Amino acid sequence: MSLLEYQYFPVTRPNKGAGGRTGAWRIVKPVVDYNKCIGCKACFMFCPESTIVPSNGKVRVDYEYCKGCGVCANVCPVKAISMVNEQ
Ligand code: SF4
Ligand code: SF4
Repeated sequence: MSLLEYQYFPVTRPNKGAGGRTGAWRIVKPVVDYNKCIGCKACFMFCPESTIVPSNGKVRVDYEYCKGCGVCANVCPVKAISMVNEQ
């Protein structure tokens, strides 16, 4: 069973569609510093929207559905995620 198939605990998983999209209301977004990321997947496990996606041993953010809550940045043990203002 791959990491993607296994859920450590129940999390919401947004469905593709207008209802789950972030749209224009998000004011900050998480940006991963790949020089710091150690690939621990803590952000993946704690993201309430399931918008952290494991990728090549590290992670990427699905910005289409990320709501900018900052949970991922708070749980990252090496502070690899910064919350930056939307342009
Ligand atoms: S900011 Fe919130 S919704 Fe977006 S990736 Fe981080 S934990 Fe998930
Ligand atoms: S919690 Fe931090 S170090 Fe761990 S995978 Fe996410 S960004 Fe990388």
